[in-house]
Amino acid sequence: MYSHQQRQHEKQDRKSSKVSISVARKHGGSMWIYRRKMESFGLRYSPKDRSYRGKISERKLLKKIMRYCWWHGLKFGLEDEFSKRSSDYRQAFFRTHKPAFGNTYFCAYCGRPVSRKKITVDHLYPVAKVHASPGLQKKLKAMGAESVNDPINLVPACKKCNSKKGTRTGTWIITGRIGSHQKLWFLRWSLRFILIVAILVIAFHSYEKVTGEQDFISAH
Ligand SMILES: [Zn+2]
Repeated sequence: MYSHQQRQHEKQDRKSSKVSISVARKHGGSMWIYRRKMESFGLRYSPKDRSYRGKISERKLLKKIMRYCWWHGLKFGLEDEFSKRSSDYRQAFFRTHKPAFGNTYFCAYCGRPVSRKKITVDHLYPVAKVHASPGLQKKLKAMGAESVNDPINLVPACKKCNSKKGTRTGTWIITGRIGSHQKLWFLRWSLRFILIVAILVIAFHSYEKVTGEQDFISAH
């Protein structure tokens, strides 16, 4: 059976197999003499770092470029699009994650309510770690993420928790994943509120009862 999900995965694989590459001279210097060859590979000159850059999706061509670079002693770099921090992940988060109530989000790690203006958006699996670990990239792809900036990998966090977490994983991931369900925090806060009210009511009643009994004793 060829399921929809399988097809979706294959589509993602094809998309992510498009790799960004850069070619430069090992110790800086002009790339002028390689210009024709680089252009025939479909790469464009980037004056900023004196390199030729482009996106390649054909494996054959990629191998050809790698061979050429090796033969001519050129520096060949792969840039991985999947684990690059995007500039608009914050907006992407707000598009897909609605506030718990009004304009308020709950921090995924400690549950503190924070306004939309002050909430930070955290990469659950940190960008740097995903970049360094093919295993984590695989894991994220299996979760259905198109990149490290996929809304699946974004959670709301208060400033304190965000800086405390840094690039940590482990239990932070579990906490963050559970805590990203905003309704759970809402429920927890409501239950806590009800519990406090209930305790106060019970305390007040027993206080009344005790003082009532004392009045009764002192009256007799
Ligand atoms: Zn927090």
